[in-house]
Amino acid sequence: MADEILDILQVVADEVPPQADTLRELDARLGDGDLGITVTRGFAAVAIGFPEVRGKPVSDQLARSGMAFNRAAASTFGVLFASAMMRGGMAVKGRDDVGQADIVPIARAAFQGLKDRGKADVGDKTLLDALAPAIDAFEEAQQSGKSVVEATDAAVQACRAGVKRTIDMQSKVSRASWLGERSIGVQDPGATAVLFILEAVQSWVHANMSDE
Ligand SMILES: [Mg+2]
Repeated sequence: MADEILDILQVVADEVPPQADTLRELDARLGDGDLGITVTRGFAAVAIGFPEVRGKPVSDQLARSGMAFNRAAASTFGVLFASAMMRGGMAVKGRDDVGQADIVPIARAAFQGLKDRGKADVGDKTLLDALAPAIDAFEEAQQSGKSVVEATDAAVQACRAGVKRTIDMQSKVSRASWLGERSIGVQDPGATAVLFILEAVQSWVHANMSDE
């Protein structure tokens, strides 16, 4: 699975930046509006770093990609993305035999990294509200014998519902929390970025794993 991670990240780097305007607009309503430029610069840097990590263990590929992102686009989201990638990688540290059974452990470790770094929890109107239902749905589908394609579809669907739920939530952390009740009614930009990332992963999974 080693270099497949780079192929997946390449699709993310191709498909998320064209949606930067949506992220910028949402972030301008709840934060400082930098999320559009952050994903554009960050994912460009991730893709530029691929030759350096090709053939390396997944843990190194994830960690270095996360660090490259935040180096190019230092920001709240950049720090969180780097934390998630490093902590996710630690779940399979140094291993060359990473496979489908590692997807949930990697995702759960990444999620814990986000929680720790962001000092946030589910319900605080953050990217956790997009990611938590996605991981749960993926795990549930996998445990009931569904294919990776089906599990990914379930994850994206749950993620999309989670993103929609952030509209009615009040921001409890970060700059957006200063808005208090005025943060209600706006879809969370970080959660939306997670959805765009997972939709890109989904398009890779459909293109490459549909016959498995
Ligand atoms: Mg921002």
